[in-house]
Amino acid sequence: MKGSCCSLTGPLTNLPVRQNLSAAVERALQSGHAAAVMVMKIADLTEINHWQGYEVGDRVISTVMGRIEASLQNNDFVGRLGGGHFLVFLNHAQGREALVEHAEALLAAVSKPMQIGVAPLLVNASAGVSLMFEDAGSADDLLRNAELALRNARTGRARFFSQDLQAHLAGYAEVRSALVGALERDEFSLVYQPQVCAASGRVFGVEALLRWQSPALGQVPPDRFIPVAENVGLMPRLGEWVLASACRQARRWRAEGKPLRVAVNISASQLDDPRFADRVTTILAEHSLPPALLELEVTESMLVGDVAECQRALHAIRNAGVKLALDDFGTGYSNLAYLRHFTFDTLKIDRLFTNAITSDSLGDGLVRAIVAMGAELGQEIVAEGVETAEQAEALRQLGCSRMQGYYFSRPVPAGEISVMPGIGAAGEAPSLL
Ligand code: C2E
Ligand code: CA
Ligand code: CA
Repeated sequence: MKGSCCSLTGPLTNLPVRQNLSAAVERALQSGHAAAVMVMKIADLTEINHWQGYEVGDRVISTVMGRIEASLQNNDFVGRLGGGHFLVFLNHAQGREALVEHAEALLAAVSKPMQIGVAPLLVNASAGVSLMFEDAGSADDLLRNAELALRNARTGRARFFSQDLQAHLAGYAEVRSALVGALERDEFSLVYQPQVCAASGRVFGVEALLRWQSPALGQVPPDRFIPVAENVGLMPRLGEWVLASACRQARRWRAEGKPLRVAVNISASQLDDPRFADRVTTILAEHSLPPALLELEVTESMLVGDVAECQRALHAIRNAGVKLALDDFGTGYSNLAYLRHFTFDTLKIDRLFTNAITSDSLGDGLVRAIVAMGAELGQEIVAEGVETAEQAEALRQLGCSRMQGYYFSRPVPAGEISVMPGIGAAGEAPSLL
């Protein structure tokens, strides 16, 4: 029964494909052999439809379908789940290793250039795979697990369903549902981590870090909930709440005679909003905060995409007098072109480098090079993740004078910052050391 079900002009639902799958899984169960389900998706079909027209898109789908069919063996079949989204039933699965090879070979075949119209066309596809008995026992579960794996597969690659992935996704769903209404219920707060002038120990600024105390999940780390908040579209509002709260606090410190600069992490979706620069200046005005007391931290990964648009937003922010920092420097794309296209006041050396300095000489060399580059470009360098006196000393010797890390202080509530000894205007030089 090698072959395909559902043509391009087939029914609107994918019920026939799923019915075929149920029957095939039932037969495999009866004969006791393991089958596998692979779902494959053409990543760029929307773009192809958009730029080259639906007729080209349809021919791409037929070509991909034909290439999958050509790879099938007895009793395997392929069906369309919709758009450029295919289900491949593999009747005799020989374990995970063989399946990975099979899936990658299929992806390679699908991604070969196709001659449609005048120019050769390349498509990108990815795949998710789940294996009978090991991952699931019913047709529905096999399909669902393969889909979950697909959602987490990188373009051009195949991903297997796994218990880890399931746990990860269950955690994701849990966070996602607990986030609904969390901002309205006032479950977020900010803590602040001092940034210190290494020579004097004086605290010259703080980084605001978001905390979420969920009644259902307890304290959830930002690395776990921020990506989910980003995906569910909460981040623009949450980010604005962070910005306003941090400005309010900076204003309080200033009124207490402690003009601390507050660094606020910005998310990609905030920067993508064309009104972002205006919102920043409005929030500053609402809190009567001098712009120089605010620093916005962005990461390299946020600067890909529409460079001109990012440049416009960041220029507008800097023109308003707000400082800009490049966070986690050296860990992302590390494309020095960013330093040409964008002007940063501060480069934050990621804690990977801080960790490396006392353990290997390459770490030393990299930090020395970053410090020299910062000096050349007139940038302030802040080393993150300083945990020990040895690291602080080594950084000082390498010419890095500004630091942040557990050695000086963990992130703490605003009230603890107010009473820290090392805070004050330049010249007072009280010390956290
Ligand atoms: P980040 O911006 O790189 O923040 C520094 C992280 O390193 C913080 O983790 C901080 O607690 C931790 N850290 C500071 N000193 C040390 C140290 O000496 N050793 C070690 N091991 N860690 C140190 P945190 O608070 O869990 O934040 C994690 C990430 O979440 C942040 O990384 C940032 O990317 C993101 N994040 C936090 N707050 C916000 C926010 O308000 N908005 C956005 N968009 N992202 C945020
Ligand atoms: Ca940061
Ligand atoms: Ca960082």
